[in-house]
Amino acid sequence: MTFYGGKELREVYRLAQAGGYAFMANNIAEQNVLIGLLQGYDERKSDLVVQVSPGAAKFAGAGDKLAGLRSLSQQVKILGDRFSIGVFLNLDHFTTNEMDLIGIAISERLVSSIMIDASKEDYDENIRIVRKVVDMAKGSDILIEAELGKIKGVEDEIASLDAFYTDPDEAVEFMKKTGADLLAISVGTQHGVSKGKDVVLRTDIADKVHNRLVENGLDVPLVLHGTSGLLADQIHEIIRYGICKLNKDTRYQYEYARAAHDYYVSHTASIVPPKGVPDDADGLFSKSDWTPVKKDFDPRAVGRAIQERIKKVAMELIDQAGSASHSIVGGS
Ligand SMILES: [Zn+2]
Repeated sequence: MTFYGGKELREVYRLAQAGGYAFMANNIAEQNVLIGLLQGYDERKSDLVVQVSPGAAKFAGAGDKLAGLRSLSQQVKILGDRFSIGVFLNLDHFTTNEMDLIGIAISERLVSSIMIDASKEDYDENIRIVRKVVDMAKGSDILIEAELGKIKGVEDEIASLDAFYTDPDEAVEFMKKTGADLLAISVGTQHGVSKGKDVVLRTDIADKVHNRLVENGLDVPLVLHGTSGLLADQIHEIIRYGICKLNKDTRYQYEYARAAHDYYVSHTASIVPPKGVPDDADGLFSKSDWTPVKKDFDPRAVGRAIQERIKKVAMELIDQAGSASHSIVGGS
């Protein structure tokens, strides 16, 4: 129905924390994943948080991050309007390399929230950078997410070498000094292909961070990155500790690749000339009687397969997070 700003997003997270459920935050870089997500979330009557990394913006903008961000933001707004759910756009892992872009995203209201990731800096510098972005966003109706502690794994343009858990006492001071709206914490998850069975989730740390923040009147929504491999039980457990945004990128990348792979493998005979037939796409195979099947090689055919798959997976993940039927648009 609508592309919403920070005021509604804050309320969506508040209701999730109070209701004991969470939102998956779903990375996009192109429209097939976005359409699949919109369809799945609409069917489940859950509000939808999508997010764009600097790398995805660069890809979508043919090498120009700003062009990609403007383009994806418009797609989210225009396509989101077709569905009866709240739709939000977050910037994922933007860094000091993207300060100009952050400024434009704020002034042009391209997004609902922004993650400024200065977690690779030392503690004081992290505070200084986050504070600066919070000040930039003041009065803009855009929420700011910061990260304290380091999340292991290879991220877009960031490589954290060691797992580094969030310190509960630092978290309180960090939120007081930065004035950020959301806090991403490090409790053992990893970016990239990380199997849930191998993840030691430090729920004790999440519990301490959450309690310490609440004791200090800072009941902010907590965020967990690198959750693609987590098992349903792990998701259910972690939501109990104030986590209400769970980032999912790798899982959709895999599902996209798998849907495209399965589609093309099952349509090889429609697309690839059989042995002995000259491979002359120039002239559309004029040197033989063999003809490729247009309805099968039309990119919309594989696009639909990808959208269907993303929709199905999105609904499974909504059920894990518990956000179904809670949409602020006519929801309960
Ligand atoms: Zn992340």
